[in-house]
Amino acid sequence: MGSSPPSKSNDAPAPPLPVPETIQCPRPICLQYLKGLNLNRAYFNKHMNRCYCSNCYGPSKPNVFIAANSKFTVPRGWVSFGIQLDQAFASDKGIFKNWYTTFYGTSKDKLSEIIRNRFIPFPGDDLLSGEKFILNLPDQKHVYTSPSINYASLSHICPVDRMNVNDNFYDFQVVLRCKQNPADVQKFASGKPNACELLPNDNIQWKTDQRSSVLPISLLIRATKS
Ligand SMILES: [Zn+2]
Repeated sequence: MGSSPPSKSNDAPAPPLPVPETIQCPRPICLQYLKGLNLNRAYFNKHMNRCYCSNCYGPSKPNVFIAANSKFTVPRGWVSFGIQLDQAFASDKGIFKNWYTTFYGTSKDKLSEIIRNRFIPFPGDDLLSGEKFILNLPDQKHVYTSPSINYASLSHICPVDRMNVNDNFYDFQVVLRCKQNPADVQKFASGKPNACELLPNDNIQWKTDQRSSVLPISLLIRATKS
């Protein structure tokens, strides 16, 4: 007892310790948003759902993973909803071992068309719905992806959808996590050099002209309180 320093009566009271803000897991909010999108439930495999908020995926865990000898970012802050896969195709191609993991930023109105198509369509493709896949990009001959969720979710690729959930407004974004055939992938630098601090900028944008080579495996949703 005697070893503790004597208290001085003229000391100002110690300021209260900052209370760490409780991070609420965004999973229920993102699930509510997903339900509102009215996508066919048969597209999804809830056994593959994951949450990468700081509660569910702790700060000490890795920020980057490797697939097919290529780095990709962990989608920290996003909630991942598993997409039903063609298991025969997946195992035949060995996609979890041999294919890259990439991200494809999109908008909510395109999700149904893309997931139903199984692979990311090319601009101008005829879809099963009978409509064409329209993307207002100067390059209509490639599918663009990125190994970085930070790059793929830039707002010019991945628009923000503001919505009220449980009396709070959130900005929602949607990104498809994909397995991508490494054949004929071209990698190049971004014009926005600071989009991702985890991966080098000089090959953060990828494109391919190969059909049926980018397969969505989960729908990532991020809710940011606005
Ligand atoms: Zn969580």
